Amino acid sequence: REGWMNRLKTGLKKTGGGIQAVFVNAQIDDALYEELEDALLMADTGIPATTHILQDLKDRVWRTSATTPAAVRAQLVESVAEVLRPLQRPLEVGRHTPTVIMVAGVNGAGKTTSIGKLTKHLANSNCSVLLAAADTFRAAAREQLAVWADRNLVEIVSQEGGDPGAVSFDAVNAGRARGKDVVLVDTAGRLPTQLHLMDELKKIKRVVTKADGTAPHEVVLVIDGNTGQNALSQVQAFDEALGLTGLVVTKLDGTAKGGVLCAIARWGAQRKGGPVPVYFIGVGEKLEDLETFDAHEFAQALIG
Ligand code: GDP
Repeated sequence: REGWMNRLKTGLKKTGGGIQAVFVNAQIDDALYEELEDALLMADTGIPATTHILQDLKDRVWRTSATTPAAVRAQLVESVAEVLRPLQRPLEVGRHTPTVIMVAGVNGAGKTTSIGKLTKHLANSNCSVLLAAADTFRAAAREQLAVWADRNLVEIVSQEGGDPGAVSFDAVNAGRARGKDVVLVDTAGRLPTQLHLMDELKKIKRVVTKADGTAPHEVVLVIDGNTGQNALSQVQAFDEALGLTGLVVTKLDGTAKGGVLCAIARWGAQRKGGPVPVYFIGVGEKLEDLETFDAHEFAQALIG
C-alpha cells in the first residue's frame, strides 16, 4: 500500500503543489484563504466545493485555535477528507449471480485498461469473471479486451461486427449458464455512426435487463482524472442517461486536477439518489495499478 500512496502523492504533487505552496512562510490571515481559494480552483475543485471547504476550514481553525501554517494545513486535510468521505464505498459483488457490471466511458478515459485491472482485482478475490466485448464498433477495443482476458485467463464473449445489444444479451446468459460471479460489459466510448452514444448505451442497458430482470447491477463510469471539470460534466451526462452506481477515476498518478473529486462529491451531495461512489482509482498503466478509494488517504496525498 505504501507504494501506491507514494505514486499517488507524486502524481498529485502537481495538484497539491500549488495548495502546499500557499502554506510556505504564510501568516494565518485573509490573504492565506484567498490564495488557498485560487489554488483549490486551479486544481479543478470547482466553486461550490471550494467555498464549502474554505468555510469548513475557517470553522475548524477557529474551533481548534490553530495558529501555525502546519496546523491549518492539517485542518485542511480534514476538511477535504470530509467532503470526499461520501465517495468512499466499496464495490460489492456476490448479492447476484452473476453480478452484471456495465462499464462506460469516453474513448481514452482508460476504460479498457480499467476493465483489465478490475478483472485482475476480482480474480484475486476469487471471483470468476466473464467479459463482454460490447464495443463492437472498434476492432481495436475488442482486441485489447481479448488481450486483457488472456492475461487474466478469463473467458470473453465477442462477436466481430456484431450488435452490442446481442453481445451483451449473450454474455449475461452465458455468465448465468457458466456460473460466473461477475459479467463485465465493455461498452463503446464513441460511435463511428450517426447513432447517439447515449442511445446505444441505454439500449445495451435495456437488453441486459431483458436477459436478467435485476441486471445491470452496476453501471460504472470510467473518467480520466486529468480532465478535471470536464470529467464532472461527463459524470453528470452519463448519470442522466444511464443512472450511475459507481465511478473509476483514472490517471491520478500524474494530474494537476485531482481536486475534481471534491467537485464530484459536492455534486453528489445534491443528487437525488445520493453521491456516486468512487469504487476505484487508477494510479498507473500496469494491471495492478488499481486501488480502492480512501477519502482520508487521498486528502493527505493531495494536501501533504
Ligand atoms: P479507453 O479508450 O477508455 O479504453 O482507454 P485505454 O484503456 O485504452 O487507456 C488510454 C490510455 O490511458 C492508455 O495509454 C493507458 O495506458 C492509459 N491509462 C489508463 N489508466 C491509467 C492510469 O491510471 N494511469 C496512467 N498513467 N495511465 C493510464
